[in-house]
Amino acid sequence: MNTDKPIYVTQPFLPPLEELTPYLEKIWDNKILTNGGPFHQQLEQALCEYLGVEHIALFTNGTLALVTALQALRITGEVITTPYSFVATAHSLLWNGIKPVFVDIDPDTLNLDPAKIEAAITPQTTAIMPVHVYGHPCDVEAIQKIADNYNLRVIYDAAHAFGVQDKNGSILNHGDMSVLSFHATKVFNTFEGGAIICPDAKTKQRIDHLKNFGFVDEVTVVAPGINGKMSELNAAIGLLQLKHIDHALARRKEIDAIYREALSTVKGIRCVQDAGEAVANYAYFPIMVETGYPLTRDALFQKLREHNIYARRYFYPLISEFSMYRALPSANPKNLPIATEAAYQVICLPIYPTLTLEEQQRIINLVTEV
Ligand SMILES: *Cc1c(COP(=O)(O)O)cnc(C)c1O
Repeated sequence: MNTDKPIYVTQPFLPPLEELTPYLEKIWDNKILTNGGPFHQQLEQALCEYLGVEHIALFTNGTLALVTALQALRITGEVITTPYSFVATAHSLLWNGIKPVFVDIDPDTLNLDPAKIEAAITPQTTAIMPVHVYGHPCDVEAIQKIADNYNLRVIYDAAHAFGVQDKNGSILNHGDMSVLSFHATKVFNTFEGGAIICPDAKTKQRIDHLKNFGFVDEVTVVAPGINGKMSELNAAIGLLQLKHIDHALARRKEIDAIYREALSTVKGIRCVQDAGEAVANYAYFPIMVETGYPLTRDALFQKLREHNIYARRYFYPLISEFSMYRALPSANPKNLPIATEAAYQVICLPIYPTLTLEEQQRIINLVTEV
């Protein structure tokens, strides 16, 4: 029996509890619990400023935000997306009656490979849904060029990309919409939560109607909307998290640097490339276990578990392997060789602001001492 303290792939960042009290008192005083209350409004404004975006609509979670983004843009038919993501990416398409078309990824960035998109476009294709995997920016310019040529919409699943910037500013300003997740495991969390970033006030208004059953006023319903509203409690937690986010990101950056330094020379271990010129958020620390390493990926994963280190194989299995997708022609592993290989090599090591140096050293020793 290993008695070392368990270390999980992530640990949600929680501000000191007493800092929450004033927020709770306000909610108890004014008795506004949801439906665009004061904290909801404040968080939307604060996030626009922090992220450098124009319009944001808060949601109950990222998945409902994805589903609603597709509704807001009236996407139908086929959508090109990546198999190398969390299953909610493709599920949001099925919930809209849309057929996902899987396209392979780039071996270095693990993002949707723009060079392979065109071959997958058919007369039914209406949009592209790429993912900024691990917070690494997609090739947004190449993707937009294809979208413009074929008159396609682009909806980014930006669940990993909170705070990420490229040379033009926030990565969330690309495409027609970007969707964030504020789930407990993400870089910035509201326990459960999510958001849609969109470029204009009219679109935001449509999204706000859709997340509130389609109501535009007390007696008028303009669309078969859903209930996707963020509550005041979740919004308050978001405001509180925002006060600590810069510190949390700085700690993640230090942990990333220590892993890179310690692991980049280990034979058979490849650290997935850093975000380069981009302002990164260090949301994950993926390593690829390649043939030169003495253990298989699963053997290393198991060894870590035996030492109470709960790393995760994000993203294994591929979305295209799940039963509701497997029969699609584009889900054939022969169509997705790079993603298939990556899914069998990847391990995401623990990274979160409160991970101590000693804990990180325990992890590094287990990977290097074989
Ligand atoms: C977390 C995540 C989602 C879903 O977000 P929830 O807030 O958990 O619903 C969607 N896509 C990706 C890539 C994610 O990592």
